[in-house]
Amino acid sequence: MSISVPAPVRGFFRRHPRLTRALELAVRPFEAASKKVVFGCKMCGQCILHETGMTCPMGCPKTLRNGPCGGVRMDGRCEVIPGMMCVWVKAERRSRWLPWGGAILKVQPALDWSGAGSSAWINVLADRQGKEAS
Ligand code: SF4
Repeated sequence: MSISVPAPVRGFFRRHPRLTRALELAVRPFEAASKKVVFGCKMCGQCILHETGMTCPMGCPKTLRNGPCGGVRMDGRCEVIPGMMCVWVKAERRSRWLPWGGAILKVQPALDWSGAGSSAWINVLADRQGKEAS
């Protein structure tokens, strides 16, 4: 997520891990429920919706986070699940409508699976994107 959190805020959450943990316990169910309904969120803990045309890349059966594989069908459908449109075809199309659509060109780091299941919102606040929730 490309939201910039002021350093003092990040520092505060880093210095208070128990408070951060309590906040996460409160926030995580709401984040999971709301983002699952709207985006099909899988709670990867490192949200990049903002940079993928508001399309969750974890909906890709191969969980690719940097664009489509080589198997996209000519009609834009997924090679693994033929009934499904490729996540990255949707992401590219949706990005065209966003003022920040160029963000889709950013090369994403590999997902740190140790943070799966944690709150991406709290991970941003606590500056622990890709780090396991403690
Ligand atoms: S947190 Fe991860 S799984 Fe959830 S919407 Fe964002 S990118 Fe998708």
